[in-house]
Amino acid sequence: MQRNNLSFINRLCTKRSNGMQLGIYSAYLHFIGELDFKTRFQKIFLKLFHSYIQALKSFMPIKVIAFDADDTLWINEPYFQETEKKFCELLEDYLPHHTVSRELLKTEIQNLSLYGYGIKGFMLSMIETAFKVTDKTIKVDVVEKTIELGKDLLARPIELLDGVEEVLLNLKDHYRLVVATKGDLLDQERKLKNSGIEHYFHHIEIMSEKGESDYLKLIKHLDVKPQEFLMVGNSLKSDVLPVLAIGGHGYHIPYHTTWAHEKVEHVVEHPNFKQFQNIKSLLPTLLV
Ligand SMILES: [Mg+2]
Repeated sequence: MQRNNLSFINRLCTKRSNGMQLGIYSAYLHFIGELDFKTRFQKIFLKLFHSYIQALKSFMPIKVIAFDADDTLWINEPYFQETEKKFCELLEDYLPHHTVSRELLKTEIQNLSLYGYGIKGFMLSMIETAFKVTDKTIKVDVVEKTIELGKDLLARPIELLDGVEEVLLNLKDHYRLVVATKGDLLDQERKLKNSGIEHYFHHIEIMSEKGESDYLKLIKHLDVKPQEFLMVGNSLKSDVLPVLAIGGHGYHIPYHTTWAHEKVEHVVEHPNFKQFQNIKSLLPTLLV
């Protein structure tokens, strides 16, 4: 652009004296210099203003801590894996375990938008998989046994993870504690009731999905700002990444096993992200 302007001035000055050409050049350079100065000033000002806003946000204290439930507060995925193993054993006359397992995962993912997360959806997906892998030749007693497997899963007692109650007891007077979990409404309510820790929580949110918009709705309902909200959970995909994306805090406590659908190969680098070995190791950070 500047080069085009200079050639325009050159053309303009072709029939003018050298003195006049110098004068026009001088005025042009002065004008450009002024513009550059203003642009630089605006850029520096905007940068400083942005840093100031970021600093203000980082000083906002966390007011609400939301805990994921399955494999964060209590054991879940190992029970599903045990049930899946028994289901594959029921069908081992038809196909090897890993093939049935792969087909079941595919069916579960296809059905997520219809049934959501939880044991009842898992039961229906097992039955559908049984029909698929046996080409509809499945015996009625195998279907019955599959339904029994699901009912056994629904009846499993709640086993809290080590340190959960100690952490909730220590945090309850300093923060508003919330449960934010996916899963079947009735099943998650039953688990919470049987867990013995329901009374620590100010609010229970059983969510169909844990996307950015779902967290924004929850945060609005809790009447806090995203930067005052911390989500603690075992899934980077569901508990951490969407919360960081909307300006909240996400603390990850990996569990030794994760459902294939929740796995993400992701290195998280974010000022509001922290990772902990277990739930008890949250306390020194949250009680400063
Ligand atoms: Mg979980």
